[in-house]
Amino acid sequence: MEFSPRYIFVTGGVTSSLGKGIVSASLAKLLQARGYRVTIQKFDPYINVDPGTLNPYEHGECFVTEDGAETDLDLGHYERFLNVPTSQANNVTTGRIYEHVIKEERAGKYLGKTVQVIPHITDEIKRRMRLLGETGNFDIVITEIGGTVGDIESLPYVEAVRQLKYELGPQHSLVIHLTLVPWLNAAGELKTKPTQHSVKMLLESGVQPDILVCRTEHPLSKEIRAKIALFCNLKVSEVIESIDADTIYDVPLLMRKEKLDKVVLSHFKLASKQEPELTEWVEFLSRLKNPLDEVHIGLIGKYVELRDAYKSIQESFVHAGAENRLKVVVHSIHSEHITEGNVSRMLAHLDGILVAPGFGERGIEGKVLAVQYAREKKIPFLGICLGMQMAVIEFGRNVLKLKDCASSEMNPKAKNPVIDLMEEQKKITKMGGTMRLGAYPCEVLKDSKAAKAYKKSRISERHRHRYEFNNAYRESYQNAGMIFSGINPESNLVEIVELPDHPFFVGCQFHPELKSTVENPHPLFVSLVKEAFQFKARNLPV
Ligand code: GLN
Repeated sequence: MEFSPRYIFVTGGVTSSLGKGIVSASLAKLLQARGYRVTIQKFDPYINVDPGTLNPYEHGECFVTEDGAETDLDLGHYERFLNVPTSQANNVTTGRIYEHVIKEERAGKYLGKTVQVIPHITDEIKRRMRLLGETGNFDIVITEIGGTVGDIESLPYVEAVRQLKYELGPQHSLVIHLTLVPWLNAAGELKTKPTQHSVKMLLESGVQPDILVCRTEHPLSKEIRAKIALFCNLKVSEVIESIDADTIYDVPLLMRKEKLDKVVLSHFKLASKQEPELTEWVEFLSRLKNPLDEVHIGLIGKYVELRDAYKSIQESFVHAGAENRLKVVVHSIHSEHITEGNVSRMLAHLDGILVAPGFGERGIEGKVLAVQYAREKKIPFLGICLGMQMAVIEFGRNVLKLKDCASSEMNPKAKNPVIDLMEEQKKITKMGGTMRLGAYPCEVLKDSKAAKAYKKSRISERHRHRYEFNNAYRESYQNAGMIFSGINPESNLVEIVELPDHPFFVGCQFHPELKSTVENPHPLFVSLVKEAFQFKARNLPV
């Protein structure tokens, strides 16, 4: 008999930021570890067609998939947990839904009918919700609905879930609702009322959750679980505690302890193929929690006030730290605060420096100063995207002594545009989805630091930028000692630059942080952390 995919919908109530993405990814991990093929998709209720045009202060970093989709950062969690790439189809926004429906309307596809939220918008939402399941590649599709139940903009999604739940039937659909059970200090008690209200709100839309996952700072007693179950039409086993964890990577194990995966499988009447095979995950956690030493790495960027702005970079350091059995203490340093006068004071305590990606002029001179400091003091350095571009500019200004040396992004009239637009990019006037996006191949130069890190001669990495190293300067840079250790074999564009006379000075035009996962920590991050530790050892006071 052919297997028909099961659909899990995850909604959130009470407040945002409860960690729907992490709970979804953790459940997916457990089901995957039991031998099921699982994917997760995120439906976001905002009107931007994709988050590519949002600045990081709005929704944190923009995650980029292999096929070049600019997506919500939760897709980063899905990939880091599952170690399986996602794609354009895994992130849908209200903007994209409406864009499609309006296009159809203009094409006359609705044959004179009034086009309405129900059924036309909800039909399109449902079609997209089932798309990945229909590929035949997955046994279970988890759909995370962004926002909070009760928001006006979430309504069409909740309505679509109601309809789909009915169409698919209980054996093929399941709704998990994530809520908060707050602790009231004054009363010395956990309070269930917000959860009851939030479930009522879902019920008003015709959706009965099948499982409740309750975020809490304190363990849920049997009584509290029974009370929630009673008020929400559930069995006690369907009330799952999600207690605050030391690290997000603990959550799959906490969910296993709560038997979330078992409850899901029994709802679907699916056999437990095997107990979850999580040996590698547990080993990773043990390395993470038992570091032998620590290193201090500076993350130089301009969005450092916001933790989520560099989410993938932060997580890549967690993976690389565990791989090296080192605790990586990341010091977020605002590039706008770095000046010639204070740079050595601001960066003196660091064992490694990472200059972050970014757009626009703000804070770039601080980044150039940080690069110069890392180069001259021989501190292990990794520059990502804009960070690499700043490394090229710093070298041009201070080693090649090029006058008016800049990126044409910041200074379109610079005499020496060492970072410049590609020909194809010059013609582009639209902003959304028009950068160089997604995976491109790269040839790695033999015996370079990059080759040592990757242990491979051909790699593929993800991109998100418009500007490139200007190949007109390649020879003069090479003569002055910078090497180009990664080149795109099709376009001849520079992908990696490095300085051979430095312990570790690497800049990459792509974003390595987008491919680091628990099971595959990224080689450039692993090398940076390792080199930072060696730097620290060399510089210990005697
Ligand atoms: N702003 C630069 C460009 O567009 C770098 C982009 C980035 O760091 N992601 O090329």
